[in-house]
Amino acid sequence: MSMQPQSIPPVPPDTEAVARAAFPKGNIYVLLRDNLGSIYADEMFTALFSKRGQPAESPWRLALISIMQFVENLSDRQAADAVRSRIDWKYALSLPLTDPGFDFSILSEFRQRLISADAEQLLLDKLLERLRDLGLLKRERQRTDSTHVIAAVRHLNRLETLGETLRAALNSLATVAPDWLMSHLHYDWFDRYSRRIENYRLPKLDSEREALGNLIGKDGFALLNAIYATVAPEWLRQIKAVEILRQVWVQQFYAPGEDGEVQWRKTKDMPPSTITIHSPYDVEAHYSNKRSVDWVGYKTHVTETCGEDCPHLITQVYTTLSTVTDDAAVEPIHQGLEEKSLLPNEHLMDTGYVTAEHFVNSRTQYDVEIIGPVRSDPSWQARNHPKFAADQFKFDWDNQVATCPMGQQSVTWLPEIDKRGQPIIDIRFPTAACRACRVRRRCTRSKKDPRGLTIRAQAFHTALQTRRQSQETPEFLHQYHQRAGIEATLSQGTRRTCLRRSRYRGLAKTHLQHILIATALNFLRLDAWFNEVPIAKTRISRFKQLQPKPA
Ligand code: SF4
Repeated sequence: MSMQPQSIPPVPPDTEAVARAAFPKGNIYVLLRDNLGSIYADEMFTALFSKRGQPAESPWRLALISIMQFVENLSDRQAADAVRSRIDWKYALSLPLTDPGFDFSILSEFRQRLISADAEQLLLDKLLERLRDLGLLKRERQRTDSTHVIAAVRHLNRLETLGETLRAALNSLATVAPDWLMSHLHYDWFDRYSRRIENYRLPKLDSEREALGNLIGKDGFALLNAIYATVAPEWLRQIKAVEILRQVWVQQFYAPGEDGEVQWRKTKDMPPSTITIHSPYDVEAHYSNKRSVDWVGYKTHVTETCGEDCPHLITQVYTTLSTVTDDAAVEPIHQGLEEKSLLPNEHLMDTGYVTAEHFVNSRTQYDVEIIGPVRSDPSWQARNHPKFAADQFKFDWDNQVATCPMGQQSVTWLPEIDKRGQPIIDIRFPTAACRACRVRRRCTRSKKDPRGLTIRAQAFHTALQTRRQSQETPEFLHQYHQRAGIEATLSQGTRRTCLRRSRYRGLAKTHLQHILIATALNFLRLDAWFNEVPIAKTRISRFKQLQPKPA
């Protein structure tokens, strides 16, 4: 496919006349076209197309259609039908009334081109650029939260994963090497792997399930041995489904014993969930859990503005594997916002994101103040007041000496690096003084050893202690209160579109889906802003409203 950039044509007069008559009170797409213009231009997408070949559909239109599709949560077929049949869509796309539209498969091809050219971020960024030029987006306060995203594949149990992985490999081999497969398969495989492996078809008794698992394991090893035999063609090993079969068998079994029987891996020898494959159809979808939610899929972090005098707009979506912790997302989020010149002054985040390192690094590297509570001190002393936790000690950083609540000075001060690569300081107090101490039980549980203390490096320790002291004050709670609004955004994304359920397989396509959703939600918010619909306040129940305010 080739593309010669075309200038954006004006809305044809017939289309405009019919649209104005059909929507005398306005319409989201008519309104956005009138206020923002076409947003995208063909020149933005030249990297996606070659210079030769059949001319492609205008990419500025495909970009807009891809977003409008998510405004209404439409499938590709429904979106292509809307282009053909709806006057508001034709208005936004500058299409004449007689335009016949295009085949729906063009949309999926366009998404693939965006991913291949690493250009998916353009869809959100170009809208944000336009809004900043119009003064609707300012450097101000933003907030971030994450939510789970269920993968577009079935959730499989261990037996189903094995059976489906072997079935997927057989299907791939049947497509690319049918003759080779026919000369190496066992005829009873037709009975076992011709249909989807589904739990309700599997035996109910544990002993029978184990026997079936052993059988599937043996079949897998037999197939892998044939593929990895020296006489087998080399290219068979390059088939993606075969490589997945090899990986799953390594993850689930030890090497077979001398008697040829399969040996299941014990739980302690299983790989961590960050690499365990749950489905051969989406190997990046991993198991995870957060509070009461268990899922196989991904995680997405949504960041939006929350100022008073501008619409609340999503500025960044960052999709990760489900096993990536929230605090690991802070740095990439700030990096992404910096690249767009959209870093906030203040960034509201919950405890999962906030660490001492982020407090300090965000301030020094990005000039961003993180507003969020930190985890309380996990030591038993902090949980059992009035014991002596780290905040009861004084630290002389210049002379590298700590003083305990009884006035005793430390004898060792060792800078070290913890397992996360962060600088820490290991402190010890004198053995004799601690053994003789009359309040020893408030300080250490050891019968003989002196008090030991591990603290962060000065900047991080100070930031942590300062936040722990301030996070219970009414001023902080008032400031942090605004973070809760991001929950409503996640809820809107879930209700209006499919934020928590991936339509596509793989991390890259799921991330693209989230960019489309974020841009679509911004469309909805702009529509509300231009129509002067006030931002909804947090609902308070009738009963709660009766509660007297504290004096
Ligand atoms: S046990 Fe040792 S460190 Fe703790 S208060 Fe007593 S003297 Fe100080």
